[in-house]
Amino acid sequence: MKIISLILILTEDCNFRCKYCYQTRDNRYMNWETAKQTLDFLSPAMKKNTGITFSGGEPFLAFPLMKKVVSYLKSKNRAPAKSKKFSVSTNGSFLDNEALDFLDQNRFRVELSFDGRSQNRARRKNSFAKTVAVIKKIVERKHISFGTNSTFTPAAVTTICKSIECIISLGVRKISVSLDLTRRWNRPSLTKLAGEMSGLRELTLQHYRKTGAIPVTLFRAEKEKGIWQCPAGSNHLTVTPSGEIWGCPTFYEYFKGKAATPAYREFYFGKSTGFTEDFEKMYRKISSHYRRFRMDNYYTTDSRCFLCPLVEKCGVCPVLRKPSNHPLLYVPPYICEINKILIDEMENFARELKTGQPFISFSC
Ligand code: SF4
Ligand code: SF4
Repeated sequence: MKIISLILILTEDCNFRCKYCYQTRDNRYMNWETAKQTLDFLSPAMKKNTGITFSGGEPFLAFPLMKKVVSYLKSKNRAPAKSKKFSVSTNGSFLDNEALDFLDQNRFRVELSFDGRSQNRARRKNSFAKTVAVIKKIVERKHISFGTNSTFTPAAVTTICKSIECIISLGVRKISVSLDLTRRWNRPSLTKLAGEMSGLRELTLQHYRKTGAIPVTLFRAEKEKGIWQCPAGSNHLTVTPSGEIWGCPTFYEYFKGKAATPAYREFYFGKSTGFTEDFEKMYRKISSHYRRFRMDNYYTTDSRCFLCPLVEKCGVCPVLRKPSNHPLLYVPPYICEINKILIDEMENFARELKTGQPFISFSC
């Protein structure tokens, strides 16, 4: 067993209330004992380059614990100072100079959620200007590998181009665009999405012609080819504040309140603080269940994805879509439609630039 990515959910608390957030808020925080027991327990499977991601809620609400974990891992030589294997996903509201120094010194990868022109409406009133100020400071930091992630709801779809234009103008070099899949997109919003994605392609092409850079990750050619596989649960693990091990934070969230269902037992690895020598056996069994989330196993209302000519370019998170009582391998029509729009624009972009094979990928 080898863990490539370990996500620690430091807290389920957050100071924002984003409209599209799929997580239920809770004031649970991981304590040091759980963090240390988890790291000690999983340590044999962690290599020097295992990525450690701090997640939440808002992980900087648990900044003291984050610092303690980094210092502990460094003392165990699991994270050499030169690597960039620590990551954090944050709303940026707690990134003062002390936090930025810490991220810089430890060469963090920082993904800041920022919705550009829809920030104040979708995330937190008056947070636009503050987040812009933080971004301006982060891009100056030499050792922070920085990117933003913007999520757009159907109501905010017409702000995509101007939001990304604004983020590019701030000097951000890695910009992810996400769509809120927790609600249905109707025909008018899909039509608007097609227009915005075409505009975004144009905008990115213009930027590329001027600078040679492709900041919007959607349009970057992927090296990987072949059928997409959700990475959850194979060598990607997530630990919750109380020490539960899941394949991904989204599975933890999806199965909240469903502990009595047979599916829960298929995807829950158990508690990191309660395991003994049986973990390996358990790991093999549970991770085999996660492996079914390959794109050619999915299906739509009227067809199976393995028959679709786009199957090698498509990817669908099994969990991040509604209504959540759909079977995990089912793709609702609006998501299939969204993916076709994205793939179309990715292909147009790749044709213009003669880059490699486009492929929908997730920053997860
Ligand atoms: S595709 Fe979804 S479930 Fe799979 S790793 Fe990404 S976010 Fe998690
Ligand atoms: S475009 Fe739709 S049918 Fe084709 S692989 Fe993707 S989800 Fe399946």
